[in-house]
Amino acid sequence: MWRVHETFIPGVYTLTKGHIKQGGTLTQRAHSSPIGAMRILLVEDEPQIADFVARGLHENGYSVDLARDGEEALEWPSVASFDVIILDVMLPSVDGTEVCRTLRTQGLRTPILMLTARDGVEDRVRGLDSGADDYLVKPFAFAELLARIRALSRREPALLGTELQVGDLRMNTATRQVTRAGVLVELTSKEFALLEHLMRHPNQVLSRTVIAEHVWNYDFDNVTNVIDVHVKNLRKKIDEGFDPKLIHTVRGAGYRLSDRTTR
Ligand code: CA
Repeated sequence: MWRVHETFIPGVYTLTKGHIKQGGTLTQRAHSSPIGAMRILLVEDEPQIADFVARGLHENGYSVDLARDGEEALEWPSVASFDVIILDVMLPSVDGTEVCRTLRTQGLRTPILMLTARDGVEDRVRGLDSGADDYLVKPFAFAELLARIRALSRREPALLGTELQVGDLRMNTATRQVTRAGVLVELTSKEFALLEHLMRHPNQVLSRTVIAEHVWNYDFDNVTNVIDVHVKNLRKKIDEGFDPKLIHTVRGAGYRLSDRTTR
């Protein structure tokens, strides 16, 4: 049981063990979405905590949707796009760690902040290993929750982690191993750098200029031609004999890595 109270520091709230604050319950769509606001999925089964956190977030300009158990949490990301997911570990039906693992397996890159009531190292490690980006131990100061949300939403989700995946193409940037449908692909260091850049920006059209800036320096002539040659070689290695084709040429614009045929 958690008690919600305001500490003597204005604006800082904490959740501490004790009595439950009497509070209203939330509707499924916790709060309406201000235009341009960041949208947060809050997964919390304890109504009082959910209410408190959702209201606090809303007061700070966030739009909040609420999932009350693991099953609901797994449904939300397929119907809406979120900037951050706040995920309680102890949940009915499917627990938070399992929810996180499943969402990551499905390719969801949204930053996930886990809430855990247990302060054990093992629990935190389990959470991070399941694909969470950060965790917060209950009881927490609300100001810290806000700070962590801000930090997570600043990071580009696709840039997190060493394991990149687009369709059945996988890259581990730590071991520098690349596989397509489980088949090991040998790449030169430039091809690897080029592919890494494409994989970190999936479904985006990257111009040759942008690719040149990130993968090559401008210290040689005819950089676009060099990029085209490398893309051609990369295609042979990761697309030839595989379906769907992942490297798409966008005429007059550049290249896009995607397992979808249309944008
Ligand atoms: Ca819980």
